[in-house]
This record gives sequence, C-alpha cells and structure tokens, in this order.
Amino acid sequence: MKGVPQMKRVERMRASMLALNLDACVVSRPENIRYLSGFTGGEGILFIRPGKAYLLTDFRYIEQAKAEAPEFEIVQIKENRYAPLKDVGGERGQIGFEGDFLTYTEYEKLQQALPGATFRSVSETVTSLRGVKDAGEIALIRQAVKAADAAFEVLLQERLVGQTEEEIFLALEFAVRKAGASGRSFDFIVASGWRGALPHGTASSKVVERGEFLTLDFGGVVHGYCSDITRTVAIGEPDEKQREIYDIVLAAQKEGVRAVKPGLTGKEVDAVARKVIETHGYGEYFGHGLGHSVGLAIHEGPNLSVREERILEPGMVLTVEPGIYIPNWGGVRIEDMVLVTETGCEVLTQSPKDLIIIE
Ligand code: ZN
Ligand code: ZN
Repeated sequence: MKGVPQMKRVERMRASMLALNLDACVVSRPENIRYLSGFTGGEGILFIRPGKAYLLTDFRYIEQAKAEAPEFEIVQIKENRYAPLKDVGGERGQIGFEGDFLTYTEYEKLQQALPGATFRSVSETVTSLRGVKDAGEIALIRQAVKAADAAFEVLLQERLVGQTEEEIFLALEFAVRKAGASGRSFDFIVASGWRGALPHGTASSKVVERGEFLTLDFGGVVHGYCSDITRTVAIGEPDEKQREIYDIVLAAQKEGVRAVKPGLTGKEVDAVARKVIETHGYGEYFGHGLGHSVGLAIHEGPNLSVREERILEPGMVLTVEPGIYIPNWGGVRIEDMVLVTETGCEVLTQSPKDLIIIE
C-alpha cells in the first residue's frame, strides 16, 4: 500500500516534465518531497528522471528514507548536497528546479555541481500537482478539521474573560493536540478587541475583556495535512455595530461557500463574497483574498482571490474566509474549509457560525 499513491504522483510529475521538455527535475520543497516520495526527514532532495526516481539524503536519514520512500533509490549525500546528481544522470540536459524555493546560494551550488546541464524554474508545475487531493489526502484533512472543531468546542467551555491572548493560544494548541493532531498547523491568530483589526494579529499579552470580539484562527496537523478555521465570538453582549459587522461577514461567508463549484475561477468565487461586503459599504475593509487551498502546506494554491485565474476542480480543498477589519474598532473573520465536489462543495468545518456570545 505504502508508496502506491506516491508513484502515481511521480507519474503525473513525469507527464508534466515531458510537456516541458525536461530531462530531469530536482525537487527541494519539503511538502513536495513528502507528496512525491513519502519521505518526511529534515534533509532530502528528489531527482526525478523519466525512468528513475532518486532520493538524496544524508547519513542521519538513510534508514528512514528506505522505510518511507520504498519506490525511490536512496543515494547518500556525503559533502556537497548536489554532487551525487552527476552520477545518476544529471550531468547534462535540461533540468527543472523550484525557483520559488531554492535560495540563490543553493542554486549556484546546483549549477556548480552540474556544469553541463541547463536549468529551468518549474516551481508552479511541481506545486500544482498538489492542487487536487486524492482520497487518502482528503481523509487526513478531514481528521485535521475534526481536531480543530473539537478544540473550538473545548475552548468554549473555558472562561475567556481575563485570559491573555497568549494563554488562549496555548489552550487552543493543547486542545487541538488532545483532539488528535500532532501539532498546530501555523502560529494561531488570537486577536481581541481593537487587535481584531489586524488580520494576522498573532496572540499578544493583551487581556480579553467584556464587550470585545475575539477572533480565533487556528488548526491542527494530521500526518502532514493541515486544517484552518476561524471563528469570531462575542465576549459579553455585543452592541449594534458588532452585530451589524458580524452579520455582513457571515452573509458573505455563506455566499462564498455557495459559490464554490468546479469550472469557476478563484477570482469568480472571490467576487461573489466580496460583493456582499461591498454592497454594505465595507469593501475597503476587506483587504485580503477570500481563501486559499490547504493541504501539506497551510497556504497553497489555487486561491480564491481577485487575481486567481486557475479553475476549481473536484478534489480541491479551500478555505472561505471573508473578513472586515476596521482600525481602532476591531474585526470579524469567519473561515470554513470546503471540499470541491462534482456539483459544488462540501463544507468540512462543522463548528457553528452563528454569533456565539460568551459571558
Ligand atoms: Zn485561518
Ligand atoms: Zn486561512
């Protein structure tokens, strides 16, 4: 069983390489290495050729590499990370690499190790293989989403007034891990009151007070696959303005979810939710894209945004997360994860989204 989905993925990669006239491809981005080979170690490079697939790693990871990537030939790195490539067919020809990941210094080392080869950046080609998730990936994403939902439920039992954002961060991480995740999928955003106006306000030492909104953006990791959820809750009875903003964001979020279906571009879906917020006069306070794909990386493509021309396909997993952020007032964001189906989408996130008031 192990290695089977990986080899299918390598075959898709080879088809892309053929279309681009590449003789080989060097893969360095950890998520792409894991996706194509199964290898999760801290040092590794894949070298994919039409008939062969190699995993280069150092002494520390040799046994792990053999176990995790049985379909790959394991090559030990001694000193120069790229030197072994010469002996496995990299001495000449056109070689693809991930220009959006490799540093300039690493690229120079690669060139020096293979002076007879020419190089071409094909980052998007490699990463786009991960856009449509297979059944195994979707199952793991569902588990990661479940852990986030369970953590939210646990957190709602806590007394949040008087806690600092950092304390709430910790409680959330504990709950996510207790619910089956191996770790947090990113540095959670815990933003209360005026700090809610910072779309990426990481937790601070600010104390949560009555009368504030509290935005929680968090998720877990299960076998490498991430979840990502945001809920905004009211601490004490919300005022009229808080209710107004919350209702607009919720309406935009629901419209956004309804709009997700195969055949549309990310841009078209973004426009549907954005229009709801614009119609209510808050367009300038929604300054980010509607969503992004989630998988082995917390943020991956395709996105739902004003610039996204890529077309949605069944099997893609995306977030739908509109928000309104008003300086010196605060903000609201609501985020679910959805799976694109043949006819529309399935909402994976199960946490309630009607305004929750915590006393
Ligand atoms: Zn999020
Ligand atoms: Zn997100």
